[in-house]
Amino acid sequence: MNRRDFIWTLPGLGASIWLTGCATDPVTGKKTMVMMGKEQEIALDKQHSPHQFSEDYGVSQDAALNQYVAGVGNRMSGRSHRPDMPYRFQAVNANYVNAYAFPGGTIAATRGILLEVESEDELAALMGHEIGHVNARHFAERQAQGTLLEIVAATATVAAASKKPQYGELAQLIGSVGGGALLAHYSRENEREADALGLEYMNKAGYNPEGMVDLMDMLNSQSKSKPNALELMFATHPMSSERLANTKQVLQTAYRDSTGKPRQKERYMDHTARVRALRPAIAEQQKGEAMLNQKKLEAAEGHFRQALTLAPDDYPGLVLMAKTQMAMKKPQEAQPYLARAKAIYPTEAQASQLTGVSYLQLRQPDKALSAFQEYDRLLPGNPNTTFLKGFSLEQMQNRRGAADEYYRYLQMTRQGNQAKHAHSRLQAWGMVK
Ligand SMILES: [Zn+2]
Repeated sequence: MNRRDFIWTLPGLGASIWLTGCATDPVTGKKTMVMMGKEQEIALDKQHSPHQFSEDYGVSQDAALNQYVAGVGNRMSGRSHRPDMPYRFQAVNANYVNAYAFPGGTIAATRGILLEVESEDELAALMGHEIGHVNARHFAERQAQGTLLEIVAATATVAAASKKPQYGELAQLIGSVGGGALLAHYSRENEREADALGLEYMNKAGYNPEGMVDLMDMLNSQSKSKPNALELMFATHPMSSERLANTKQVLQTAYRDSTGKPRQKERYMDHTARVRALRPAIAEQQKGEAMLNQKKLEAAEGHFRQALTLAPDDYPGLVLMAKTQMAMKKPQEAQPYLARAKAIYPTEAQASQLTGVSYLQLRQPDKALSAFQEYDRLLPGNPNTTFLKGFSLEQMQNRRGAADEYYRYLQMTRQGNQAKHAHSRLQAWGMVK
């Protein structure tokens, strides 16, 4: 079964995605062939964005920060080419430096990038660029070119890359959810267009478009000091010296009258004070994540321990420490961190899934199952959870229950070792040929 066939099998999704039709490009006004209608864009957004948020340790619990980010975003989205899209702007708790948009208008910036931005105009550039992607319908365009097949299939296939479902390897199931699999990877042409639209919306909303240059300069300098933290940003939004040169040139011509205004720095600093107070803890977490990626587990543990000394109640800090303990095959040690994380952010699902995996590592499949059921209630629709419930039931000798979950899993994906495992069990139990 190849990817294209697979798309068709996604219930309620496949058929609608491949409908082609004629529509008007909201930016250029030209008739274009599109692969996706507005309803599909919104449906895909609703389906995928909650999983990306959870991978990013949830939407920030700092309501005032979210309100501020939303205020800046809404000021521009209302003046964009698609003012009627259901935009939603928020900060997410991840430490890496990134921002992203889903096709229905769900837009997020990580606390990692908010920490490096220095003015409201620069934040407006970041949001304006993402609004640009939504308005130019780049998601649908990438879809039409076939580059998004992976994204559509991502929630089902992310698990596929992971290792055999042995107890020792289970921790890797978690890391395999995401890694940017749900995010659109734009072309250079898309980036050029999003930059131009971002500048237009910034200017219409009264921001200094020079914030765009500040943003690009910041990203370039960050990529030198913390390449690990910007890997995904540059993989999804390709950066180039040409982007910076183009922007500078447009500023000197089309936006000549709007430049030179003072940037709104103080307002930005006031509204981001709480996240900036976490800077030392976030810096330790970023170092720990770099070590974790290199599988230097003891070094990672040291950084996460230091981060928790600085910010004991930080949800990502607790979850990252738990992941490290599990990677070190110390599930027992992971559990108190996960319990604390759940108490701090009870509606965020990732800690529940990790709790389930830690119980599998401890060979307590019944407790694992209830943790996965809890995850499913908080964040339905993750195929990984279906597999993990099946795996727990299998360990509990509940063959009927396991078979149901494995069967459901195989309807979502046929690729990877988990699918192989599920299929081999169904075969051994005489339920498939
Ligand atoms: Zn971009």
